Amino acid sequence: MKKIIDQMTEIYVLRMGHRYIRDLRISTHCGLVAWALGAKGILFTGMYDKEMMKKLRETVERWGGEFEIGYVENWREYILEERRRGTYIIHLTMYGINIPTVEKALQKILRWKRILVIIGAEKMPREVYLLAHLNVAIKNVPHSEVAALSIFMDRITNGKALLEYPEHMKIKIIPQIRGKVIERGEPKYIEGDINREV
Ligand code: SAM
Repeated sequence: MKKIIDQMTEIYVLRMGHRYIRDLRISTHCGLVAWALGAKGILFTGMYDKEMMKKLRETVERWGGEFEIGYVENWREYILEERRRGTYIIHLTMYGINIPTVEKALQKILRWKRILVIIGAEKMPREVYLLAHLNVAIKNVPHSEVAALSIFMDRITNGKALLEYPEHMKIKIIPQIRGKVIERGEPKYIEGDINREV
């Protein structure tokens, strides 16, 4: 499979502190952003939510591409283990260094074989700020993990995350100014027609 991101680096996301019901949509969206923008996989900590992971897996399977979805019981052990195997750990937090300031450094980080991007849900344990090699802010104001992950993936890939797609996508969108057209093997008309008068 062609990598979405050209370089050798594998990017994984660790979504910490998932809570049942409350975080169902937002955790699913973290997974979708990770998948859509070229991460190799997402791991969840917090409450084990079989339904949320199933929903995410179903969407990814429907659209195609290779993507890992998993659960981590002990985040501390997991991060330490990743550090031991030589993974570069980036924690996205409003308390970190604002991303335009570290843009050049991010390009160097791409020489690492593997990057783990940590995003939170509720208040993050203090230790995470210290276990990370780099705390990165997407502007030093509070907003959302979904937005933070999106902007981070765009910046670290120099915009390639928005331009490249995995091979063997099962569904392909044919972009339209107006209307919706997708292709599933054979081009298929769904709804709308760019030439139609309204
Ligand atoms: N109040 C929580 C705290 O103090 O850690 C943060 C909750 S925030 C809704 C959830 C997650 O979104 C954070 O853990 C962080 O990963 C991400 N996030 C929110 N704003 C961010 C920002 N400005 N830059 C980077 N990440 C951000």
